[in-house]
Amino acid sequence: MTNCSPFFPELNRRAEYQVKSNGNYYQYSHYRQEIREDCLGRCVYCDGHENELGGIDSMVLDHFRPTKYEEHKHLKNDPNNLVWACPGCNHLKSSHWPALGMQETFVDNTGFIDPFNENLNEYFKIKDDGSIVALKPPANYKIKLLSLNRITRKRIRELRNIKLLWIKGFEENIQKIEFLLKQKGIIEKIEEILRSHLKWLLSTKSSLEKALLDFNLY
Ligand SMILES: [Zn+2]
Repeated sequence: MTNCSPFFPELNRRAEYQVKSNGNYYQYSHYRQEIREDCLGRCVYCDGHENELGGIDSMVLDHFRPTKYEEHKHLKNDPNNLVWACPGCNHLKSSHWPALGMQETFVDNTGFIDPFNENLNEYFKIKDDGSIVALKPPANYKIKLLSLNRITRKRIRELRNIKLLWIKGFEENIQKIEFLLKQKGIIEKIEEILRSHLKWLLSTKSSLEKALLDFNLY
């Protein structure tokens, strides 16, 4: 498990993407791996991680500003306009872009939030049951348009919350036992039991963490 936030971790674009020897961009599909890494393997819309959605092949490149519009045609191969997305969000987003012709990515209460320039946790809150709620516009527009509370995504977020609780429970138990073992005067038998329990907790926590919260990119 990486140290990033459980939901909508901060994303940073690399300073430079690869270009051809003449300085022009490659065809946009060339940037799949770089965009994937910059988005930490997550769909920037629903926050589903590729490891939760069936792996790298289950994800697509999304043109953040849809290139169907004349105003955006020049962005077709620009990697700075590409984000990592699940096919569901990519399909639902389609060519919707309420802020057409504007520098901003949303206007009034509608539009999209640039995941590289904004902290999405200021726009969305994830409840314990995995549902996503809007904190400020245009979050509600995105939740409705992209159906961000569709059952598959709600379930993914709920499971992530449950897994995090399990891991936290292990950590707390480990700390308690480590504290007890540092105390003087505990009879030998109890110490032996505690050490064996601690060993089990540590190894099980580590295997659970690896199996349940693996956000590494392969
Ligand atoms: Zn998605």
